[in-house]
Amino acid sequence: MRKVMRIFDLTGIVQGVGLRPTIYGLAARAGLSGWIQNRSGRVRLRLEGDSQAIGEFMRQLPGRLPPNARLDAVVERESGELAEGEGSGGFRILPSDLSEPVEVVIPADLSLCADCRREVLDPANRRCGYPFTTCTRCGPRYTVVEAMPYDRARTTLSGFPLCAACGAEYTDPSDRRFHAESIACPRCGPQVTLCDADGVAMQGNPLREARAALARGETVAVRGIGGFLLAAWASNRDALQRLRARKHRPHKPFAVMAPDLATVRCVCEVPPEAEALLTSPEAPIVILDVRPEALRDARLPFDLLTPDSPTLGVMLPTSPLHLLLFAPLAGDPVPPFEWLVMTSGNRGGEPICLTDREAHARLQGIADLYLSHNREINLRADDSVAVLQRGGAQLWRRARGYAPNAVTLAQPLQRCVLALGAELKNAVAVGYADRVVLSPHVGDLETPEALDGLEQVARALPLFLERRPQCVAVDLHPDMHATRLGRRLADEWAVPVVAVQHHHAHAAAALAEHGLESGLALVMDGTGLGTDGAIWGAELLAVAPAGYTRLATFAPVPLPGGDAAVRQPARQLVARWADAGVGVDAARLARLGVSEKEAEVWRQQSARGIHAPLTHAAGRLFDAFSALLGFAPEAVTYEGQSAVRLEAAAGRATGLTLPRVPFDCVENNGLLVVDWRKAFERLADPGAFVGRECEWALAVHVAVAEAAMGMIDFGLSKSGGTTPVVLSGGVFMNRLLTDRVVARLERQGVRVLIPRRVPPNDGGIALGQAVVAGRGLIECV
Ligand SMILES: [Zn+2]
Ligand SMILES: [Zn+2]
Repeated sequence: MRKVMRIFDLTGIVQGVGLRPTIYGLAARAGLSGWIQNRSGRVRLRLEGDSQAIGEFMRQLPGRLPPNARLDAVVERESGELAEGEGSGGFRILPSDLSEPVEVVIPADLSLCADCRREVLDPANRRCGYPFTTCTRCGPRYTVVEAMPYDRARTTLSGFPLCAACGAEYTDPSDRRFHAESIACPRCGPQVTLCDADGVAMQGNPLREARAALARGETVAVRGIGGFLLAAWASNRDALQRLRARKHRPHKPFAVMAPDLATVRCVCEVPPEAEALLTSPEAPIVILDVRPEALRDARLPFDLLTPDSPTLGVMLPTSPLHLLLFAPLAGDPVPPFEWLVMTSGNRGGEPICLTDREAHARLQGIADLYLSHNREINLRADDSVAVLQRGGAQLWRRARGYAPNAVTLAQPLQRCVLALGAELKNAVAVGYADRVVLSPHVGDLETPEALDGLEQVARALPLFLERRPQCVAVDLHPDMHATRLGRRLADEWAVPVVAVQHHHAHAAAALAEHGLESGLALVMDGTGLGTDGAIWGAELLAVAPAGYTRLATFAPVPLPGGDAAVRQPARQLVARWADAGVGVDAARLARLGVSEKEAEVWRQQSARGIHAPLTHAAGRLFDAFSALLGFAPEAVTYEGQSAVRLEAAAGRATGLTLPRVPFDCVENNGLLVVDWRKAFERLADPGAFVGRECEWALAVHVAVAEAAMGMIDFGLSKSGGTTPVVLSGGVFMNRLLTDRVVARLERQGVRVLIPRRVPPNDGGIALGQAVVAGRGLIECV
């Protein structure tokens, strides 16, 4: 019988996930000949054999993929009959074809898999205790890639030729390490090193010495998959206090790592969705609720780990190096650790360190020891952060494991865009065809190091993807660092710039993630320049492909001192009182840590509009209420702190009857405006709330949810009521608020969507900018 051949192109997540070896095994079992080959951004598969067998093979393929692979499309390229005697030469894996740059997909890094974990802890295995154990199902990808397509020769492992034993695994089709590009072993692979605070190499077994240092309460800088982390023993109060003081980080929660799920369960509630996230190949930090009994018997020093809220950011070991810090190997006298702090290896505001040189320079005075290695990290990837929102995962920081996987759009873009993102929680994006590739979290653009990191990734991402941006998208705010860099790059490349309004970008991102181009979007956040020069941040937008209409907002209030009022919430409260015409006595001000003189300056600034921009932002309303009820700190030490404390307080509310926080809604020329002056009038006298602060904190959440519903109902009435609604912006990281608004809308039968795979905060802005600018409908400026 004549045999046939058919050639297919497979696209999706098809490289760096063990697809070629899997297909090799399947083809061999099915008795098919042919070959498989990595090409730029896809895999080409040639099958030779009986026509029916090939058809059956292709039908079954989607259900037989390796765990981390994803087939987005299978396109048949060619088919034909074979000559007599052809088609029985066996199946081969061909070397990668580098000749045709088409579509590039950069694989994301994968967390330590269960098989490799077992091997690393097995005294009989040749990889026992080896911190760089990987296979087709785990290990670094994006962070070690130097060029595409993904092959060992184009990674930072190229300098480590495989030994005979590893080579045998790499070429054995039945082995888990068949064609696994990042594998290594103690004989042929990278090695760990330990240096003291001065960067001098230390004697002894590096892992054992590092564990001993952790047990003494010292801080160890650990070079992980995507950069340095700072590790400390989470049960040791002195260690935590020292780390907080050295990092100048008094309150922002520390992420912690536990060796296994059982340990996590002793301290935190772990619903099945959270378990799935913790154990996924992406393995993000998952923000979990601490169990009440664990809080009560202070099983960990929660006051030092997470001072503002009864939640804990938890992750499991993401690489064997992390795992080996927990578990003692034979001969190590230091007992196992249950919890280690694993916080970003940076000085406040800077990106995490990548190289040893950076670490030794920038972590000086913070780290006591440096546990490093010679598997170089080419590109930075922080740990991702996820939370359960309405029972499902929502990313708050999109980095290791998720980036740079693409977001697929329902409608293709007209042109290739580089989008620069915003000032805080920055990430950049490249949009082209029907996809947007977001970079890993770059961070806050507050330091020269962060700006360097931004420029590096903004230049590298289009190059990797082999795309030349035809325009650059930036925020409407001209003074953001990201905006300035975007304009400079656009000049250099001689391409136009598109400035996208901040909340329009939030809305477009949330819609795009759910395959939508139009809908109502309620965006609540802390800041974003509006088209009228005021600060927006409580915006109901009706979004269409061609643009948006602003339908509702909060009434503007002066922000005396601008950013200074964000850092010192009492300023905002004084401005709110002045705005509501409420007089406040000196004793009341003293309780806020404010003198009558200071308050008078802020009142004057607000009244005359001197260095007091107007803000509509919902984030600022939460700041003012948090200050009013006594939860806000005098000086905020991390973004959103006042709101985090207010949400935590609301969670402690016990009263059966909730007080009501009054507000007004006024329609003005088609714009619905929510005015909160009555609330600040009502609560001017502390007698109104003292002793019931937590109930009032909950009442504030209820009132903001009601206001949000009023705004959305207004928008729905204008659009005939069938439009989908998306909720986005950093304020919707507030779970209490999101829960109430979503539940209400669902009860009304409204289709409501929240960001899931892209953060609701400014980490998702670049996606929206890319979508808006890529459609090419908006005037270039
Ligand atoms: Zn593995
Ligand atoms: Zn080896």
